[in-house]
Amino acid sequence: MTGEPQDDCLFCKIVAGHVPANVVRETDTTVAFRDINPQAPTHILVIPKVHHPDVASLAAAEPAIAADLLREAGEVASEEKLESYRIVFNTGGGAGQTVFHAHAHLLGGRGMQWPPG
Ligand code: IMP
Repeated sequence: MTGEPQDDCLFCKIVAGHVPANVVRETDTTVAFRDINPQAPTHILVIPKVHHPDVASLAAAEPAIAADLLREAGEVASEEKLESYRIVFNTGGGAGQTVFHAHAHLLGGRGMQWPPG
């Protein structure tokens, strides 16, 4: 069933507490934790507790939770005192997605280039 936890999903295991993570914020529908391989001084992943493979499928199936995810990314940015930041949703292997459970990357604390690589 859509949104159900997947046994082979790393981020579902983090949601369940079966894999440890450096959690910075948690709500009824989302978890935010520090990326294990940070690409900026602040690099936090914000994920929905429900399982969807990418942000588009999350937004199509559960738009209220997609909105929660965006609001939480902003809340975390505020708590981290980031004046400028980037929110990234890699979608598909060609765009760099490696974990197929929807997640926002919140990156900040350094200058950034445009366009991204
Ligand atoms: P993607 O490449 O956009 O799918 O992002 C996946 C992110 O998950 C990468 O930035 C990884 O560094 C991060 N990551 C992988 N495993 C863990 C973990 O166990 N804890 C925290 N972050 C992780």
